[in-house]
Amino acid sequence: MKHYYSIVRSTLLEHVPRGHLAAAALISAGLLILIGSSNDSSPQAVSVQSVNIPGLEIQGTETQATPIAIPPVEAIIQEVAAKAETPVAEAQTPIGPQWKEFTVQNGDNLSILFKRAGLNDRSIYELFSDAKDAKDLRHIRPGQKMSFLVENGRLTGLKYVINELNSLTFERGNKGFTGKQIALKPDIKYAFRQATIDSSLYMAGKRAGMPSNLTMEMANIFGWDIDFALDIQKGDSFKVMYEEQFLDGKRIGVGKVMAAEFTNGGKTFKAVRYTDKEGNSAYYTPDGRGMHKAFLRTPIEFARISSHFNLARKHPVLHIIRAHKGTDYAAARGTPIRATGNGKVSFAGVKGGYGNVVIIQHGQGIATLYGHMNGFAKGVRNGSRVSQGDVIGYVGSTGLASGPHLHYEFHVNGQVRNPVTVPLPKSIGIEKTEIARFTETTRPLIAKLDQFKSSNRLAIANNSTNSN
Ligand SMILES: [Zn+2]
Repeated sequence: MKHYYSIVRSTLLEHVPRGHLAAAALISAGLLILIGSSNDSSPQAVSVQSVNIPGLEIQGTETQATPIAIPPVEAIIQEVAAKAETPVAEAQTPIGPQWKEFTVQNGDNLSILFKRAGLNDRSIYELFSDAKDAKDLRHIRPGQKMSFLVENGRLTGLKYVINELNSLTFERGNKGFTGKQIALKPDIKYAFRQATIDSSLYMAGKRAGMPSNLTMEMANIFGWDIDFALDIQKGDSFKVMYEEQFLDGKRIGVGKVMAAEFTNGGKTFKAVRYTDKEGNSAYYTPDGRGMHKAFLRTPIEFARISSHFNLARKHPVLHIIRAHKGTDYAAARGTPIRATGNGKVSFAGVKGGYGNVVIIQHGQGIATLYGHMNGFAKGVRNGSRVSQGDVIGYVGSTGLASGPHLHYEFHVNGQVRNPVTVPLPKSIGIEKTEIARFTETTRPLIAKLDQFKSSNRLAIANNSTNSN
């Protein structure tokens, strides 16, 4: 049955038009239930009460305890058949135990929800010890839905709807509970907005009907070229094309900015989103130069410089004149440290006075070094690839350090340079091997942005782009 279900799902994802996906998924969920109950060996699932008569509420086996006079089945069927032409087939659909759905309320926890469904903590214990996906149930939030299938006082199925796109189901089989993650793919349509700035970017965005996080995202894309706090002038304008996510024709959210244009003081900047062969997404100019600088100036946000680059400094621990070949940032132990540029980790380990240290090679003869770390971030080891802004480790005081701080070095062609004043390389461009692919993928997006004249929405067949 598990096997059958997975075929249903992959068929859905590959062959069913996206507009029907949600409906199809519902149908498959229905199939799951039907298959589940027909596999059920308990005889009462197909007992007398399995006749589904409109207007007569039958709640599985519970009706047995309730003293309601149920007319003989044959009589009911005849009566119904007499009233309508075709209800007989429907009337014969067997119903097993019913799913009970609950909406998570403020202050609820699993124990409360399970109790509401008539279950005790033993079911929670069984679920958690059998299925590792059960840990996600710890993150329930008010408004989410949880459905229970209870048979003879035992939990046999659970559905947890995380959001419109994601849900989690559990089924009890011979070997206990197994969990399944279900992810629906939304339909993506491109939406377009444009505005001329009168007072502020925020107000212009609002007037154009943009959610404020979309305005923020656009500002981030152009943030290396335009200072949105100081440079914005009346008469500046923008155009933005972005993803809108739909499920069953209903708009459920805003995805990524796909292309945008910003005119500031008469100068126009354009950006387009591109996802490379390795799956990294970033914004580029139409000719393939990165919108962002190749390096962040500092690896820690909002940290205070506690010791500057100084080639003739008295060492605070060794008390001898020893060049300080980097910049020290004082920060609390455990503060995340970010890779200042894309690159490959050439060393992650312990190295003398540096303690726990990460060295990243960025290409073009540039390397950065991060010392005295308390520990490394997950997945950071020799040879691993990192992107600008990735957390690579945490502030500590390993090696020769008087207290928790980050020691950061910037090397160009083997020479140490002052990280605060070194001219940073312009930007990360598209690699030569990807230029053809980049052009092919982004040219249509830029063309669409250029075509947009008013706030008309353009629905496009989009097979490769989804939210990521
Ligand atoms: Zn230092």
